[in-house]
Formats: sequence, structure tokens, C-alpha cells
Amino acid sequence: MSEVQVHTDISRLLDILKATGKKYDLEKICLAYEYAKELHQGQFRVSGDAYISHPIAVAEIVAGLELDTDSICAALLHDTVEDCAEKTNLKEIEKKFGSDVAILVDGLTKIVVLQIEDKEEAHIENLRKMLLAMSKDVRVIFIKLCDRLHNMRTLGVKPDHKRRITALETMQVYAPLAHRLGMQRIKLELENLGLQYLDPIGYEEVHRHIEQKYGANLGFIEHIRADVSEKMKENNIHFTLEGRVKSAYSIYKKMYNQNKSFDQIYDFYALRIIVENELECYTALGLIHEMFNSIPGRFKDYISTPKPNMYRSLHTTVIGRDGIPFEVQIRTWEMHHIAEYGIAAHWKYKSGATSKAELDRKLEWISRLIETEAEQRDPDEFLNALKTDIFHDEVFVFTPKGDVIALPSGSNMIDFAYSIHSAVGDKMIGGKINGMIVPIDRTLQNGEIVEVLTSSSSKGPSRDWLNIVKTSAARSKIRAWFKKEKRADNIVVGKGAIDAEIRRFAKNCTEAQREQIVSSLCQRQGFSSPEDFYNAIGYGGLSVSKVLHRLQEECEKVVKPEVTESTVHAEPETIVVNKPKNIKSNSGIVVDGEAGCMVKFAKCCNPLPGDSVIGFVTKGFGISIHKINCPNVIQGRNSPENADRWKEAHWEASEERGESHSIYEALLQIYVDNRIGMLADITVVLADMRVSILQVSVSNRSDGSAIINLKVGCRNIDHYNSIVSRLRGLNGVDNIIRGFS
Ligand code: MN
Repeated sequence: MSEVQVHTDISRLLDILKATGKKYDLEKICLAYEYAKELHQGQFRVSGDAYISHPIAVAEIVAGLELDTDSICAALLHDTVEDCAEKTNLKEIEKKFGSDVAILVDGLTKIVVLQIEDKEEAHIENLRKMLLAMSKDVRVIFIKLCDRLHNMRTLGVKPDHKRRITALETMQVYAPLAHRLGMQRIKLELENLGLQYLDPIGYEEVHRHIEQKYGANLGFIEHIRADVSEKMKENNIHFTLEGRVKSAYSIYKKMYNQNKSFDQIYDFYALRIIVENELECYTALGLIHEMFNSIPGRFKDYISTPKPNMYRSLHTTVIGRDGIPFEVQIRTWEMHHIAEYGIAAHWKYKSGATSKAELDRKLEWISRLIETEAEQRDPDEFLNALKTDIFHDEVFVFTPKGDVIALPSGSNMIDFAYSIHSAVGDKMIGGKINGMIVPIDRTLQNGEIVEVLTSSSSKGPSRDWLNIVKTSAARSKIRAWFKKEKRADNIVVGKGAIDAEIRRFAKNCTEAQREQIVSSLCQRQGFSSPEDFYNAIGYGGLSVSKVLHRLQEECEKVVKPEVTESTVHAEPETIVVNKPKNIKSNSGIVVDGEAGCMVKFAKCCNPLPGDSVIGFVTKGFGISIHKINCPNVIQGRNSPENADRWKEAHWEASEERGESHSIYEALLQIYVDNRIGMLADITVVLADMRVSILQVSVSNRSDGSAIINLKVGCRNIDHYNSIVSRLRGLNGVDNIIRGFS
């Protein structure tokens, strides 16, 4: 965890501001500091530090982004209205520091929630408020991200459950927002800090790998740098070289999401060449390709086609000495600042190319999101929409005229049509990709030319589309159509869905009871009539699952208890009354007391059925299953810190597991004499046993022996043992060890 220095005066802040060389109203900043200090007098952080140290630290991070005077003042004042309500309010702030500062502070202040029962809902309302404030003034989110970054840096002192909640929210909301705004530097730090709290063991493992690999490749990296420097100098390019090791979190993601081993991660190391102008970027690229062989399909020109978050650079992956691949990124200084600070860099280059109109266009998606979600009543849906629309990777496709349209990856033709215009979506009857007619639910790929076929006689979208579309924009436009055009149908559909649920909870209820149930439910959901309520269910503005719990409560209130008793057996699967103690999962693992949780197998020990195992609860990344004698487990369980996160786990009996079709990864490290045909003999044995080889690598040692690292598909520990004993029988095999990470 990074060392954090605590300051209660602003001398360092003033130094940072002076170092930028920009003009700041230091007097105003000092006043904001004095005022905040006075208000927070007597308040302390959990660490015991005076509270004022936090706003100062946030202001320092904001100053690092070179934002303006008002942003610095707002950073200093950001917690005053919320935490010192008895001493100040927004009016006071406005009187003292002007309306801009007051608007920023307002955007950073949580709403006090009176009417909302649910903590989760209150939380999402606050997110919505923040996004709304941000759509009016993007500086709100810059300051909020700095606030979150400082809270993450100092999270260690908080109680354990608080840390995990904060870390999870950081990963789900703030890091992706930083990414979308192009603020790479803040994003990377947030992610790495977040991972340390959510999966500390996974983080440590990746971290250790990085250190080892970096150490082992130091010579290689030095050589490359020297060679590239010389070549650039020979060709009179003005350049700066930077080396970069991929962040722990991005490697972690590749290992677990794309199921790669550490060795399969190519762009572990990247060389960055920063030059003076765009022309030099391409010259430098030519020189790099002259020096090294490039890997086909890995060259990307983000200069001519920037990413939607403004990122520009040339990327290529080439093969260095000893066949080690590495990535090269080439960019100008301006591109570099934008890559690090994203939209915040606009303040740095204000006089330059980025006009206010251009900035607004780049932030259009925020207001679009707020707009399409304005009538979204369901907070879960709102959060989901956020996650797909803002926080997803993108796919770029073209209109037949050649305009680029960026959509969340996984989008299809329907999303595309609605992103052009709702009228296009509503009239769509089909479409072509690269000139060929394709099903409308086919996922779009980068670079495809997409053409929507419309017909004026189209009867409008289909309800099924709601389940097919990826973007919330398309979903809410489809709903808007149904809401407007099909009220009568919606009411029928909605009533049908609600009636079905009522029948489940209260089988024999009378029509009068049914009406009573529906009318109190309407009231609780804030609808003025049952028709409006049915309509909302019908067009999908409100999901049935969202009201199920309340519906059940109403049913129990209205209908006699003995009737409810009997309905327990008719329990629909969506409701869990008593959490079953053990939940089976298709992974073949049962984790005690953790229902329906995602399970993954730790890469450090790759457990097999039959091994004694234990689960470690990560947050947001499922439960990782380790062998009980994995060194990480032994080390981890010794520390009291995460004691409650270790869960008993065991394998399902094989008959329950639906038998031996599940294949698990097993790692073998085979020490051999490096004779001719050794590897071939091994593969013959494996083929004979019908064992599939998932990965193989050989490293030769100076004494004529070799180590073969083999990853195979394996059913269980007995299967593994039989493979090992067959291999041991081969001439030249000295030893076999399980695992090689
Ligand atoms: Mn704060």
C-alpha cells in the first residue's frame, strides 16, 4: 500500500500550483482553505488525522490535473456542506466563493434521503445525482475521482467490510468512469488499489510474477532501449523513451477472464516513444518495423482513428531478441498528456485545438445517458445500464456513408439502429453487415459496415428485442415506443404477469382480495392507478422481479396465513426464503454457506477433483478455490486480517457432478534428459491416454537437461496420478512436479 503523507497546511498544495506555471487566484484558494479548516475543526478521520488533511490531499491531486482555481476551492470545500451542515450551506459557499464553486460543491454533496427505504436505492440515487451534476459541469467528476482516489489510498484504516464495499464500488463505477473520461493514470491506480482489497491473494500473486519476470528480463529491456535510442538518434528524431510494465490489474484480468497463464501475456512490457509531432510518430513507427519483425494484426493506428475517450497513439507489437514479444507505443507529448489525464487535459490545452463545443460533444454520452434513464424507475436497471453503457469496452462500426459509430461491445444491429435514431429502430425490418443480410441479433465486430433496412409498413419493434439489445439507450427507446403506442396491450401483458405471481403466492384468493393486493402495491410503488402500474410492467419500465418481494408481503397481509403456508411449496424459483446451506455450482465445487456464487480455480495451484480445497471469498471476482496446501493459503490463513473470508469447500461426489465430463486444467513440470524425441514420446503417451494438451513450453538448461512445462486437461486427481505414472515410465524422465507457476 502506498505511503500517504498527512498535511494539515497548504504549503505543499501551493508548491504544486506554482510548479504548474499557470495563473491561480491563490488568495481565493487560501480563503477556501481557512474556511474549510474552520468548519471541519474538531472532526477527525478514522486514522485519527485532523479531517482537513483529506480535503487538502484531494485538492493536491486536483492540482496535479492542473484544473482551475474554482476546482481547487471546491476540492477544499467538498465535504463541508455534507459534514458541517449546522455551520454552513450552499448559499454561504456561493456568497463567499461564487456560484461556480457552489455548483461544484453541490454536485459533490450526497443527497439526504428521507423517503427511500432501501439503502441500495439511496446509494444509486446519489450516483444518479452525481452524474447529473457531472453532465452540467464535468469538473464535478474530476474532483470526485480525486476524492475517491484519496479515500482508496487511505482505505487501510477502515474496518474490513467497509473496505470491501468501497473497493467494489470503485471497481464497478469509478475506475470505469475514469477510463471512459480517458483518465488513465487515476484509473490504473484505482484498479490496483481496488484489487488489493477485493482479491488480496490474487493481487499478490500477479505482483510477484511481475517482479520476477521484470527482474529476469531486465537485461533484455536495457538492450532494446539502447538499440531503439541509437536508431532514433541516427534518424534525427527528438524523442523520450519510457518503459512501462502492464498494471497488475490488467494482467489479473487477462489471467482470469481470458484464462491465460502469465507466460501467455504478450504485452507485459511496453516501450513508449514520445516524440515532437505527428509526422515523427509515423517515422518512428517505420524505424521500429525496420528493426524488428512485427506481429501481424497487432498494429493499431489510434492517431487517425482516436478511441472515443480521446486516446491517440500508434501501437505495434514486435519480436525482440530471443523471440520475446513486446509492445511499442508511439505518441506526441500532447497525446501523452491526454492519454494520462484524458478529458481533464482539456484544461491544460484550453487554448489549443479542443474548443468548448468539441468538449461538449465528447461528453454528450453523459447527458444522453441521464436523458434515457430519466424515467427509469428501477435502480438496479439504472446501475446495469451504467455498467453496460459507460463501463464497457467498445466496438467501432461504420455507417454505409463511412461515419464511425461507437457502441458497447456485444451490441447488435438493433442497438446500432436505435443509436442512429429511434425512428430508424422503430421501422427496422432487418439489416446487412458488409453487404450481406444477417440476423438482427448478430453481435457487431470492429470495422464492419452496418446498414439498417427499414420499411414504412413496419409495425414497430418486437417485445423480444428488449431481451436482445445490449445498450440501455435502445432498450429505453423500445420501451418508449411500447409505452406510447401500445398502452392497451401493455396493460394486458402487465396484468397477466402480475396475476400469475399473485396466483403463486395466494393460490385461492378472491377477486376482491386480488384487487386489494394490487391497489396497495400500486400505492407503495407510487402509481396513481392499477392501469398505470400494469402499463409500466407491460412496457418494461418496471420489472416484475423488482416488485416480487412487496407483492409477496401484500399477499401475506391480505390472504389468511394457512393459505400462505401451503403456498410455500409453490415457491417460485426466483425467491429464496431460506438460503440453502450448500449450493451446487456447475464447477463441481460446493462452498459452505455461499449460495450461488461464481467459483474460479486459483492459478497458483490449479486444484483438481480429489484435492483437499478451500475457498477464498474475493469481492466481485467470485470465490477462488485453492488447494489446501497451496503456499498462498498457508501464508494467507496465518494472517488474522482476512480470517472470515476463508470458506470450507469440497468437491461434489462424482455421481452428483453429472460425471466425468468436466475437465480441469492441470500443470505438470517434467524434468527430462533433453534427448531427441523426448517431447514426441510424451505427446504420444498423452494421445494414447486421450489427454488433451492445452499448453506446452520447453526450457533448456545448460547441463543438457530440460524442463517441459505442460498444461493438460484432467478429470480428477486419480486421472492426474495415472498420467504422471505413465510419463514416469518413459526413458529420460527424471522427475515430475505438479504446477509450475
Ligand atoms: Mn471526501
